Amino acid sequence: MSTRVLILGAGFGGLELASALSEALGEEVEVTLIDKGEAFVFGYSKLDVMFGRTSPEAVRLAYRDIAKPGVRIVRATITAIDPENRRVSTDGGEYEGDALVVALGADYDMDATPGLAEGGNEFYSVAGAQRLAELLPTFTRGRAIVGVCGAPFKCPPAPSEAALLLHEYLIARGVRADCEISFVLPLSSPVPPSPETSAALVQAFAERDIEFLPNTRVATLDPARKVAVFDDGGGLAYDLFLGVPKHRAPDVVVAAGMVDDVYVPVNPRTLQTRYAGVYAVGDVAAVGVPKAGVFAEGAARVVAQALIAQIERGEQPGEYDGRGSCYIEFGGGRVGRVDVDFLSGPKPTGTFHEPSEALVAQKQQFGASRRARWFGD
Ligand SMILES: Cc1cc2nc3c(=O)[nH]c(=O)nc-3n(C[C@H](O)[C@H](O)[C@H](O)COP(=O)(O)OP(=O)(O)OC[C@H]3O[C@@H](n4cnc5c(N)ncnc54)[C@H](O)[C@@H]3O)c2cc1C
Repeated sequence: MSTRVLILGAGFGGLELASALSEALGEEVEVTLIDKGEAFVFGYSKLDVMFGRTSPEAVRLAYRDIAKPGVRIVRATITAIDPENRRVSTDGGEYEGDALVVALGADYDMDATPGLAEGGNEFYSVAGAQRLAELLPTFTRGRAIVGVCGAPFKCPPAPSEAALLLHEYLIARGVRADCEISFVLPLSSPVPPSPETSAALVQAFAERDIEFLPNTRVATLDPARKVAVFDDGGGLAYDLFLGVPKHRAPDVVVAAGMVDDVYVPVNPRTLQTRYAGVYAVGDVAAVGVPKAGVFAEGAARVVAQALIAQIERGEQPGEYDGRGSCYIEFGGGRVGRVDVDFLSGPKPTGTFHEPSEALVAQKQQFGASRRARWFGD
């Protein structure tokens, strides 16, 4: 009988894992990939949707287009996980695996920031980005705050990109002189593992007259007064608030007892959880790497290699190296890149590549290659 691998979540991690297993093992493996959604959307596409560069429909990659040997896609919401027995319940039935991989990502905790739902906007979901695409054209004067409500959050450079792209957007609409932009971040610098990248971003903010407030978290919004209140007691009045909500593990993972602190503890080298045959990859796992697709993908490859080695009784694979590259939109048709390495040395390091037009093409290629590998087009 072929080995049954149950993958929970068809995001960056789940899609890469299913693809790698299918590629190596074909029908020798029985992969069941469960997701509640109909389609995958790259994180960075949300910025494109928000600034009206594209539509939500254009960036959706439908799961029904996936046709891979050995892989079955199930559209269902996972309602319970039994990690001891590698079994899950969904609104469409029960599933069981010889191996279980949790790749359910991170959810947004809007309630953790009182006032955010009523008085602000988030741009981290497709729905939030879509709402902003309608709202942004009405913003013509006053202060916009790009504010982060908790760390860690997905894709550390994304709020910096939002501030830079907002600047560009307001210029294009001829209203930049009537608007102020403030960027509130609970980290000491935009990309802490890479001082060079951070310096380039801080310089870009200064050149564009974007006020940067590091080491500051947005704790609450007061919608009546239109004030963002910070964790240090300070605050700033706003006319438009673009927020990154606090993140947390999905409720179903917490209810399963898999979470110790906020995310699922794993061996960072093997991604194994404390349950036999159960792994966690990507944003849901506490690995010590940033919450970004490239890291979810890298972790999924290591789990794929381990499962392939088990099934084929081959050599055990290498360990997860915690390396990845992130592209950063600077506006003006230029993209930078930071290559980070989280696990090789005593502390994380990062190498910066100056924004250029060549990197725009490289970023497009990054998306196109995943689309082709995961969705076959
Ligand atoms: C604005 C923005 C920009 C970004 N830019 C980049 C970038 O440039 N590069 C980069 O590498 N990363 C980027 N990211 C981060 C990236 O999107 C995430 O880190 C990545 O998607 C994490 O992959 P994952 O597999 O862990 O989870 P996800 O991709 O979030 O996938 C989790 C899946 O689980 C499903 N799911 C959750 N709960 C359930 C349930 N109960 N039942 C069934 N299914 C469920 C969800 O529907 C989802 O499809 C960005 C993110 C944002 C928000």
